[in-house]
Amino acid sequence: MAFINENFLNLKENYLFIDIAKRLAAYREKNPEKQLIRMGIGDVTLPLAPIVVEAMKKGAEEMAHKETFKGYEDSGRGYLFLREAVAGYYKSFGVEIDPEEILISDGAKSDCGNIPDIFGEQNTVLITDPAYPVYVDSNVMGGRKVIYASSNEENGFAAMPDPNIKCDIIYLCSPNNPTGSVYTKAQLEEWVAYAKSQKAIIIFDSAYEAFIRDKSLPRSIFAVEGARECAIEICSLSKTAGFTGTRCGYTVIPKELTAYTADGCEVNVFKIWCRRQGSKFNGVSYPVQCAAAAVFSEEGLTQTRESIDYYMENARIMAETCDELGIKYTGGKNSPYIWLKCPRGMGSWEFFDYLLNEIQVVGTPGEGFGENGKGWFRLTAFGTKENTAEAMERLKKLIINN
Ligand code: PLP
Repeated sequence: MAFINENFLNLKENYLFIDIAKRLAAYREKNPEKQLIRMGIGDVTLPLAPIVVEAMKKGAEEMAHKETFKGYEDSGRGYLFLREAVAGYYKSFGVEIDPEEILISDGAKSDCGNIPDIFGEQNTVLITDPAYPVYVDSNVMGGRKVIYASSNEENGFAAMPDPNIKCDIIYLCSPNNPTGSVYTKAQLEEWVAYAKSQKAIIIFDSAYEAFIRDKSLPRSIFAVEGARECAIEICSLSKTAGFTGTRCGYTVIPKELTAYTADGCEVNVFKIWCRRQGSKFNGVSYPVQCAAAAVFSEEGLTQTRESIDYYMENARIMAETCDELGIKYTGGKNSPYIWLKCPRGMGSWEFFDYLLNEIQVVGTPGEGFGENGKGWFRLTAFGTKENTAEAMERLKKLIINN
């Protein structure tokens, strides 16, 4: 008899985007003539930068010839040329990382979801609420106790640690999905001090670091002194460079980071993660790693920045509309997300249906990201400028006329 991992039965039954897809399918069936503007799922819409495509083609061409063909990559951690390029990128915003501490992945979701594998079941995991669902789900699957740090209207949806609460693993995401809030350096210093006082490890998701424009805001947890002793950083090229369909990311584990056995012995986290990856992961394809390295070249950074500027203009349009309508929100400034308070006390699914039925605009109900998302709603800046402007015009008419 095969026994199931019963932890999976503790997961919330439906994943947020499946619920949304069902509602959209039902709406489309009834209203086939209506054009929807989708500002829900956080997928990008602009193509890869030309220099990135060129590098990918060149990588593919190398695979076509015996002399340059590549099989498995020896270390499984990613080619050194890419790890060096990532280290150079960190250096450009003042953070020193050794290429040996960088591990290339097929994206941040896999590493966010897999990293709990190396941590014991007895860990208490602190997750900000609301949060990107992978953090909670992967720890529920692993049978760990999950507790929450409240991100709410009062703290600008940037939860801070409570020294009276004990935990072992902490997930932070800045700029945040879904709330668009960004931690200041002083706030991250507080988190680092808290983590160290607990001998806890912070798993810092920096998937949206490229959207930070304000130079005073940290783009990496490692901009904070002491973070190397208590943090892992997981990043992605999905939003930085349009890699959602190309798949590449990177994880930084400082060599000095340790966790503990039940009897208090220190264990090197980097080594254990490499051991785990050695058994379960065979690396990212060579042409994709060539493409990823091109992102970090001077020309690559200039070209990908153009796409980010385009999305940030959408964010500006959305923020301006909320300002005009007196709708409260966070995000939109150093983040591609606008997290808004549903007008007139509506619930987030109620507001979802209202926008869908009245103006055919699709967003994401905040409560799909946690309890504190109730009454809040996420819009993304990843659409076209025309659609974003059109959606905001429709929203203005709807709110003003009703
Ligand atoms: N982390 C956050 C906060 C995200 O919002 C996303 C994607 O939406 C990811 C990670 C996943 O990124 P990837 O496409 O690299 O798996």
